[in-house]
Amino acid sequence: MTLNDLVRQRVRKRANYYCEYCHSPEQISASRFTIDHIQPRSLGGSDQLDNLALACRRCNQRRYNFTVGSDQKTNLITPIFNPRTQQWSDHFIWSKDTLRIIGTTPTGRATCQRLDLNDERYQGDRNIRETRQIWQQAGWHPPQHDPIQND
Ligand SMILES: [Zn+2]
Repeated sequence: MTLNDLVRQRVRKRANYYCEYCHSPEQISASRFTIDHIQPRSLGGSDQLDNLALACRRCNQRRYNFTVGSDQKTNLITPIFNPRTQQWSDHFIWSKDTLRIIGTTPTGRATCQRLDLNDERYQGDRNIRETRQIWQQAGWHPPQHDPIQND
């Protein structure tokens, strides 16, 4: 079963057109973001709005059907961030230069690890930190109201 356009539009609008994991803006992306199933369909997750989140293609690919990640501080396996039941700002903060997302809780750190939110494993010719720098110069980054590290 595929999600209908009305459901997709509701998810996109609810997310204010940002990826709900890495906070990339959909509106300056060449292609529309994807609809992520928080509890993957392959694990019995539903198509209901409370199980859906807007995710950029990077985050959706890396998330695959994983629901947990490793907290790099404690090495404990921890559920990743759930945009429906948790607040982004309770688990993440932007680095002072706003190019890196820092997990401030076990959930935040496990999500940074699982989704590689700062492209620390990526070996391509451009990574998300360089892209964020370009957005920042253009005045599109970081999203308004996101917390930023201050020391
Ligand atoms: Zn993303």
